[in-house]
Formats: sequence, C-alpha cells, structure tokens
Amino acid sequence: MTESSSTGRIRREPPTYRRVAVAGVTPLTPRLVRVTVGGPELDGLVIEQPAASVRLLLPAPGSSELVMPTWHGNEFLLPDGSRPTIRTLTPLRLDSTTQELDLEIVVHEGGAASAWAQAARPGDKAAISGPGRGYPIDADASGFVLGGDESAIPAIGQLLEMLPADKPVHVIVEVADPAARLELPKHPAATVDWYDLPAGAPPGDALVPAIISTELAPGSRIWAAGEAAAMQRIRRHLLDERNLPRSETWIRGYWKSGRAGDADDD
Ligand SMILES: Cc1cc2nc3c(=O)[nH]c(=O)nc-3n(C[C@H](O)[C@H](O)[C@H](O)COP(=O)(O)OP(=O)(O)OC[C@H]3O[C@@H](n4cnc5c(N)ncnc54)[C@H](O)[C@@H]3O)c2cc1C
Repeated sequence: MTESSSTGRIRREPPTYRRVAVAGVTPLTPRLVRVTVGGPELDGLVIEQPAASVRLLLPAPGSSELVMPTWHGNEFLLPDGSRPTIRTLTPLRLDSTTQELDLEIVVHEGGAASAWAQAARPGDKAAISGPGRGYPIDADASGFVLGGDESAIPAIGQLLEMLPADKPVHVIVEVADPAARLELPKHPAATVDWYDLPAGAPPGDALVPAIISTELAPGSRIWAAGEAAAMQRIRRHLLDERNLPRSETWIRGYWKSGRAGDADDD
C-alpha cells in the first residue's frame, strides 16, 4: 500500500515482525525445502486466504544473530543503516495450537533465502511479518487455470486444497530442473501439466507459450505467479489479446531474473 508525497513514496508500515525459530526442516525435492518456523509470537497470526504472503526476515548472510530492523517511513533499516535480508514467501500450514508455520523455499543459485533454507537447523532465528493479501476464490467461476514456475509451487499446492472440488482446474507448472516435480495435493477435477524449461532459456519460456495455448472456458479464472517479466507477458496476452476482464485474472510477479529480493508487483 503506497501513497505519494512531494518527498517521494511513503509506505504504510507493514505488520510488526514476530520472532520465530526453526522448528523443523523437510527437503521435499532437491529444489524445494519445507522450513517449519514456530514460537509464541505467532500467537494471533491469522491467514484467511490461500496464496497470501509473509515477509521473512533473516540474519545477515554468514551470521546467526537476528537483528531487528526499524521502519524508516518507506523501508526497514538495521541500526547500522543497512538493509535487512527480507524475502516474501507463501504462508502455508499455520497451526495455532503448536504455533508453527510452514514455508516452502525454492533451492536455486545465489539466493539468501535459498541458502538459509538449505542450511536451516532447529533453533535458527528468523522473523515473520504479515500476512499480505491472498487470492479471493470466486465460487461462481466455471473453472480455474493455475500457472507458475517453481516459486509458485507452494501457492499452487495450497490453492488445489482450497478450490471448489466440483470445478475443473488446469495446472501448468514450469520447472527449471526436472527434479523439482513433486506430487501436488489431489483435487478431484484437476489436470496437471509440467513443462521443463530448456537449459539456458529465460524463465517463462516454457510457461508463457503453455498458458497462451491453453483453452479458457467462458467464466473461468486464471491465477499465475512466477518470474516478473514472464508474468508481464502472460498479463498482456490475457488482457490485450484475449480481452479478458482484469477481474478474471490474478497475475503476480514473484521474483525478478537477475535481481535479488522479491518482485512483489502487487
Ligand atoms: C507473494 C509472493 C509469494 C512468494 N512465495 C514464495 C514461496 O512460497 N517460495 C519461494 O521459494 N518463493 C516465493 N516467492 C518468491 C521469492 O520471494 C523470490 O524468489 C526471492 O527472490 C527468493 O529469495 P532468495 O534470497 O532465495 O533469492 P534472491 O537473493 O532474492 O535472488 C538471488 C538471485 O536468484 C534469482 N532468483 C530468485 N528467486 C528465484 C527462483 N525462484 N528461481 C530461480 N532464480 C531465482 C534472482 O533473480 C537473483 O538473480 C514469493 C514471492 C511473492 C511476491
């Protein structure tokens, strides 16, 4: 949420960070690690919609100490003025009894969150802020298309668990490594198509044509998330070429190729 001012962008302060510790680490595939975080400060966290977001605050790379940042009008800064390591993830299972939250983090080259997830051990410190808004499922839709790359697999899994059982769902997933394929939650009317990104091809090179060639029944809704430039191509196709009403689409850039930090263009 942003407001303009003569001095630049003033952003509303995000929800306070809740300190957590790693409670468990479960490798799901060589490309995806589930990290369960927990702690009493998760008390009161409520996540109502699927495919929502939380911000994960991490210790500086190479350190195990978690320094809490403070809000400076439009960004969080550490006491020394540097930017903290913060990444956006999909909040998955939230257990209010054990006060635990599951996150699933893609393993890829050169990422702070990716490296943290691979090295995470019980007791490691982090913090969570959120949630940010998720996907409002339209119960009147005739069906759903869910598209994404590996970063969207956690959200797609959660959506499959929550979409109406009697509505057809077409899932289209691009993986940069075949080892990223995994068993998604069952949905009685879902078909799942996996696409391998050819080695060296830019992200989205398999996903975008797959979505462009997908048949969309009237009244269906399309949800897609992944690399920002690929999402922009999908958005343009759906809105400008297919002339779909914006309200029938939900397209969100999750990361930017070649740039650290998420690409939340929401
Ligand atoms: C609403 C929302 C929900 C999200 N949910 C999830 C989630 O549940 N799980 C998840 O893993 N990600 C999720 N993401 C995406 C995640 O925030 C970004 O991928 C983030 O950049 C990962 O941080 P990192 O520290 O690993 O890499 P960074 O340090 O941010 O990036 C380092 C380099 O890796 C590249 N990179 C970043 N992400 C990927 C990737 N997925 N594959 C290949 N290269 C990449 C960057 O372009 C950069 O060159 C979500 C993003 C949003 C906005």
